[in-house]
Amino acid sequence: MIEQTLERKWGYSSFRPLQREAVESVISGRDTLVVLPTGGGKSLCYQLPAACGIGLVVVISPLIALMDDQVTAACQIGLKAGALHSQTKEALRKRTFAELYNGSLELLYISPERLVGGGLLEIIRPHVGLFAVDEAHCVSHWGHEFRPEYRQLGDIFADFPDTPRLALTATATPTVQGDICVQLGLRSPLSLIGHPDRPNLIYRAFPRHDQTRQVIDVIKRHPDEGGIVYAQTRREVDRIASSLSKAGISCAPYHAGLSASERSKTQDDFVHERLDVIVATIAFGMGIDRSNVRYVVHANTPKSVEHYQQESGRAGRDGEPAECILFFSISDIIMHRKLSATDNGVSPERRRIIDRQLSEISRYAISPVCRHRLLAEHFGKPYPPEDQPEQSSETGCGACDVCLGETKELPDSEALLTSQKIISAVFRTESRFGAAYVVKVLLGQENERIIQNGHSTLRVFGLMKDSTEPAIRAWIDQLVVQGHLAVTDGEYPLLKITKSGLALCKGEGKVRLGLPSQKLSRGERRNKASAKAGASQGDVHSPMFEKLRKLRLLLARKLNIAPYMVFADSVLTSLSILKPDSLEKLRMIKGIGDCKRDQYGKAFLEVLSGSDPEIVAERFT
Ligand code: ADP
Ligand code: ZN
Repeated sequence: MIEQTLERKWGYSSFRPLQREAVESVISGRDTLVVLPTGGGKSLCYQLPAACGIGLVVVISPLIALMDDQVTAACQIGLKAGALHSQTKEALRKRTFAELYNGSLELLYISPERLVGGGLLEIIRPHVGLFAVDEAHCVSHWGHEFRPEYRQLGDIFADFPDTPRLALTATATPTVQGDICVQLGLRSPLSLIGHPDRPNLIYRAFPRHDQTRQVIDVIKRHPDEGGIVYAQTRREVDRIASSLSKAGISCAPYHAGLSASERSKTQDDFVHERLDVIVATIAFGMGIDRSNVRYVVHANTPKSVEHYQQESGRAGRDGEPAECILFFSISDIIMHRKLSATDNGVSPERRRIIDRQLSEISRYAISPVCRHRLLAEHFGKPYPPEDQPEQSSETGCGACDVCLGETKELPDSEALLTSQKIISAVFRTESRFGAAYVVKVLLGQENERIIQNGHSTLRVFGLMKDSTEPAIRAWIDQLVVQGHLAVTDGEYPLLKITKSGLALCKGEGKVRLGLPSQKLSRGERRNKASAKAGASQGDVHSPMFEKLRKLRLLLARKLNIAPYMVFADSVLTSLSILKPDSLEKLRMIKGIGDCKRDQYGKAFLEVLSGSDPEIVAERFT
């Protein structure tokens, strides 16, 4: 029965991991905790029970900016959904109340404040079949986004002893999981904890040497696709956004220095695909729900692996291949450290945590080790996931720069020799200079200062003249992260040799160095990630795909909804490859349920049989 509903409404023939268990558990009346990564398909865990007639499903969420979009998307697949929060539009509010009173509403999205106040509990009492708490980590002090309003939910639920409770979150350490169960009063809940890996994401981490150019290169590999570029400060964001605009890229800045209306317009333009790229500080994120973000670039290093996971996680929520790329520089780490050191509000305890987090993200960025593995292990899970041993093939994950051979690890002896050369240059120049100077000496590039200091006559001068500046800089960063070199505080950071650095010079200790080696090819990347994601391996950008995408955009504009709500990218890919020629065949495609077939099927079939998307969209009613 649940399979049939899944197939009929969503057009999906199978469940994602743990979805079935979650749905069966709540339908049987049991309290349930679901921890699944972003894009894991959490919404289905409460929407499907609603579609199966469990009664009114009340979805509590702190993200009111998303609710109206979630309602629109649910209505697109034929669910009766509504929302109530401080910013609900009048028409939607009226319709929601009408359907609530007559008992036809299946899904109610609501903010915690709204649920508590205004006599709403008595209105929902006769109908409610399930409470679903989204972003459930917000209930915990230990989580990273504590919301005091969430604390009242337990009391409310206690007043509905017969109604099952479902808590959902993407990130929860075991402590937070326990806290969620206690605070929401879950009664011997079934805990369904997924693996944190996101197989459809390609992770890359490269040394940064020319920020703007490197960012532009990534964007150019994704023409006309949606992407997010994260930078550290407002100033950086504005600077990068203006360079991108000059390069002809459709983009806009997003940070706390812009007015609320500017930000909301940018957000809206992005979700509705009037804008390809958002350049943002991390202020951007909580309120976006564009499932087809195809890449996330970090132009600066994030504060922690947790932050990285969350920010990069906004890519590929639709399960299709997407790229997460981080441009690392030790200067970012120095800057983060400085900020926490000069902030008097930061306790020594907190500062130690910040330091540890910065070391962890640095190690993630510079280690020549599979990045899927590093991330999974950071979150305490083995990689490959136990139930998917096939991912441990000789080629590794097939979806990170290391396993794809784009970043090569230097053989041990070469890494040691290279380190010794760099460290001796620091030594010979008496630890009185920064990285840029040391690099010049090693490359044998004279300038006035070097000549004046007599360093052009040193034996280390030109010792690495066959190498390149970005390579030596990257190695210096790697030596710093591994603790063989240190960087002083102060306005002009100087390189110093540490104890372990001295040991390396004597041939003692271990060092690992890596280097980007190869140009990235888009085709290879896509196909490998597609294979991993279980998607078809077609040419995603065939002319037919582009025509279908055009139609999707025009229909979405006409209906004033986001394009991904019409069809996901994966549906367009399947359509362009399989080219169905009837409504029945169309319905076989994953992601097209009855409702969408009835609404959009005819239009898409026309374009598939050769009609012009503009003309078809014009006639669409
Ligand atoms: P989350 O809330 O966990 O981030 P969503 O509920 O937004 O994830 O789902 C992510 C994407 O996965 C959506 O595009 C959704 O339609 C799709 N999806 C969910 N379940 C399935 C499934 N069983 N088969 C195929 N796609 C699915
Ligand atoms: Zn890998």
